[in-house]
Amino acid sequence: MSMDNETLSQFLDTLDSFVRERLIPHEAEVAEADAIPPSLVGEIRDMGLFGMAIPEEYGGLGLTMSEEVAAAFVLGQTSPAFRSLIGTNNGIGSQGIVIDGTPEQKETYLPRLATGELIASFALTEPDAGSDAGSLKTSARRDGDHFVINGTKRYITNAPHAGLFTVFARTDPGSTSSAGVSAFLVEAGTPGLSLGARDKKMGQKGSHTCDVIFDDCRVPASAIIGGREGQGFKTAMKVLDRGRLHISAVCVGAAERLIRDSLAYAMERKQFGGPLADKQLVQAMLADSKAEAYAARCMIEETARRRDAGRKITTEAACCKMFASEMVGRVADRAVQIFGGAGYVEDYGIERFYRDVRLFRIYEGTTQIQQVVIARNMVAEAQA
Ligand SMILES: Cc1cc2nc3c(=O)[nH]c(=O)nc-3n(C[C@H](O)[C@H](O)[C@H](O)COP(=O)(O)OP(=O)(O)OC[C@H]3O[C@@H](n4cnc5c(N)ncnc54)[C@H](O)[C@@H]3O)c2cc1C
Repeated sequence: MSMDNETLSQFLDTLDSFVRERLIPHEAEVAEADAIPPSLVGEIRDMGLFGMAIPEEYGGLGLTMSEEVAAAFVLGQTSPAFRSLIGTNNGIGSQGIVIDGTPEQKETYLPRLATGELIASFALTEPDAGSDAGSLKTSARRDGDHFVINGTKRYITNAPHAGLFTVFARTDPGSTSSAGVSAFLVEAGTPGLSLGARDKKMGQKGSHTCDVIFDDCRVPASAIIGGREGQGFKTAMKVLDRGRLHISAVCVGAAERLIRDSLAYAMERKQFGGPLADKQLVQAMLADSKAEAYAARCMIEETARRRDAGRKITTEAACCKMFASEMVGRVADRAVQIFGGAGYVEDYGIERFYRDVRLFRIYEGTTQIQQVVIARNMVAEAQA
């Protein structure tokens, strides 16, 4: 859906109030308990946030890319754990079905993903296949009209809560590259699927990851997304651009929150007879953060517009992911500096954000992988 301006601004205002009044006050508690209270999960469901990027015909909000990044700018203003809860349903966990799923797969899963009744996980990474995901070893051996999956997936977001896993496995045993990989929809509770212990992460407490282990896990051939073998990576690539833009927008939201908090603190805290905000060296940090966050916001909005216009944006989406995730790292570092000792201890939540945003440079393609993508596309274009 493309919302009219008034509806979009109403939606964003409601989301902004929800973030400020319901989510921000619970940040410390969520981090401390390493869990989002079920009542808050219910409120997040009621806001329709699990289905932001799922088409309206399946019960979602069907936001365009521009609308989705506008929402992610707002959601990014609070702990990334809240965003992570709905992230997989809107992104890598549902978009493969939206883009390449069979009509039956769409009917079966999208309505429940849109309401949050079903949580989706995207299981690509393995112990020996991270950035080089195409080298994955998890196998899916054909057995009549079924496949038998064996292998281990690592660091899978929302796996402890997931009802549905998109699992990438090699269906062509003779292949060693991404060409022999298929994407399967595997429901939690399928015999042979089990979970490892929850990972103890540096940050983003309240969002959970763990290993997902497949031991002779039997699924029907109809579980392959789109019903065709060997298409798994093509499906994954199609959803990557959208996911990268979404994460980039979350980085901008987090940066803007940190800048707001830093400015408020710098105006309030007095040293050498006046507020920190009057000191030019502190002003330089505030200004650098402001300019960088603004630059990231502009490039994300422009790239989202181009995608909505049907243009190919793989290079630009990688630029956004690289710049925005590195930018929020610098902004968080400056925020700790502006807060001084108060930034290093828990009280203001600055050290928590500093740890939380570190992940953005690592998942959905590390900074180095974005650099590889950008430069590879530059060379290919120059050669064309
Ligand atoms: C909290 C968390 C949640 C995650 N959620 C999911 C999920 O839901 N689903 C999922 O499938 N995966 C998930 N991941 C995995 C994540 O996508 C990978 O960790 C990431 O892609 C990097 O892979 P790796 O950890 O194996 O690092 P490696 O690939 O081993 O990389 C290590 C370092 O080497 C660099 N490097 C690697 N190759 C190159 C190269 N060619 N050129 C230059 N530098 C290179 C990397 O940039 C990095 O700095 C998650 C990870 C974490 C930590």
